[in-house]
Amino acid sequence: MDITEIIEEKRTLPVRKQVDVLVVGGGPTGIIAAQAAAEGGKTKVLLIDNRSFLGGNMTIGLPVLGFLSQKKEQIIKGLPDAFIKRLRAKNAASEHRACPLHMGITMVEPEAVKTEALALMVEAGVEVMLYTYFVDVVLDKVADAGNNLLKGVIIETKSGREVILAKTIIDCTGDGDVAFRAGVPTHQGDEKGGVQPSTLMFCMGGVDTEKLRMSIAEEPRTYLTDFIPNAYFGQNNQFIVVGLRSLMAKGRQDGFNLPTERTIIITGLRQGEAWINMSAVSGVNGVDPDSLTHGEIQGRQQVEDIQAYLKKYVPGFKEAYFTKIAPFLGIRETRVTEGEYILTGQDILSCRRFEDVITVASYPLDLHHPEGGGCTLEWCGDCYDIPYRSIVPLKVDGLLVAGRCLSATHEAMSSTRVMATCMALGEAAGRAARQAVANRMLVRDIDVQALQAELVASGAYLGAAFNQ
Ligand SMILES: Cc1cc2nc3c(=O)[nH]c(=O)nc-3n(C[C@H](O)[C@H](O)[C@H](O)COP(=O)(O)OP(=O)(O)OC[C@H]3O[C@@H](n4cnc5c(N)ncnc54)[C@H](O)[C@@H]3O)c2cc1C
Repeated sequence: MDITEIIEEKRTLPVRKQVDVLVVGGGPTGIIAAQAAAEGGKTKVLLIDNRSFLGGNMTIGLPVLGFLSQKKEQIIKGLPDAFIKRLRAKNAASEHRACPLHMGITMVEPEAVKTEALALMVEAGVEVMLYTYFVDVVLDKVADAGNNLLKGVIIETKSGREVILAKTIIDCTGDGDVAFRAGVPTHQGDEKGGVQPSTLMFCMGGVDTEKLRMSIAEEPRTYLTDFIPNAYFGQNNQFIVVGLRSLMAKGRQDGFNLPTERTIIITGLRQGEAWINMSAVSGVNGVDPDSLTHGEIQGRQQVEDIQAYLKKYVPGFKEAYFTKIAPFLGIRETRVTEGEYILTGQDILSCRRFEDVITVASYPLDLHHPEGGGCTLEWCGDCYDIPYRSIVPLKVDGLLVAGRCLSATHEAMSSTRVMATCMALGEAAGRAARQAVANRMLVRDIDVQALQAELVASGAYLGAAFNQ
């Protein structure tokens, strides 16, 4: 008979570190959360990440979306904007450029993101542990119906299994790993469990981006794009192309294996560089290693035909050559958590305001269909608020959940997931955690008005009622 399970032996684990605030996951949310938590120098902050670098999805060749609103105003300021300014000082980020489809796009150089994120942590006094996998929680379980208290985490590294104890923990894993292990209710995908497809980003050099944009501007019938007026390309030399559907159809007729209907090209910061967001693997479960491996294999197989298609049909790509593939498969959606408030698609479409707002956001609902192929976009015409309660999880104390895995529905997450919004959530979570530690309180019980006042005083934008 096959053995289907074993019982893990009980063992004693060494406590490696004790800190005030532990941030798990050093993506765009986590680095800003750690910086905010460490501000003032009185709070001992540790940031752990399982990879060899910080930056998460900000290192896979994506532009940062969400800094500008649908009214073309800058709505994300504070620490997220300071990080972009830091990159810009190294010629590693563009301006926040208005885009009719994406509201605001900010190009960043992935390698500089890794370098500057680490430098920022050192300057901010945040201790960083890379190559460190969060694997489990240390919980004080309460017997009655009350919340369990999270006291620390178990990590796995080359040194083995160890414990980090912390007064407050912020889950910035994107996947809600800490929340899930701690017993916070989580959900994955739509009503059938379908998640948005994953994408292996890759980069090409030698692209004549001038030819590309002028062809689109001057030959709109041949090079039709989605939502973005062709004239836009005549006026902008850094841009995202989304569309060219008739070229894709032709490529498919000619036998190219193309997984999506739309050509998506993002100009890089370097001359002649373009990042390609066109592979799509449906059904990848981003928290299952077999499924992730399948996604990596499929993604790599798709890259070849996509390149050949671009070179044959898309203006400016004739002399282009492949340069690199992103360090990991881009996962749009895994778990979202259930918090004191679950943000909904309707909240977003009605531009809802909340008394406990911790950031405003404006990116549309942007659902890549789980079965592949299409994408649905819906705009509210303005901004909406994200409340503090959406980062305070149910059932577990001592924990905040910020970034992609906040408390939101499948629809709402398709908007809140963009990186500028995630960074702003990270700032609020970091400041809230510091306040909780300073006042010896649970993050659930902090003074949200004091948090809002601190956010505004330090440059964040919480809407007209707060920022006079
Ligand atoms: C293909 C694709 C295209 C996208 N396009 C855009 C776009 O154009 N613009 C935009 O703004 N957004 C885009 N997004 C969305 C955006 O990239 C993510 O939603 C955002 O990066 C989420 O930020 P995060 O910090 O919550 O998570 P992540 O960026 O995923 O960072 C999580 C970090 O946690 C670490 N981690 C995870 N689990 C553990 C663990 N168990 N132990 C230790 N460390 C752990 C990871 O290594 C990582 O560094 C796209 C996403 C994808 C996949």
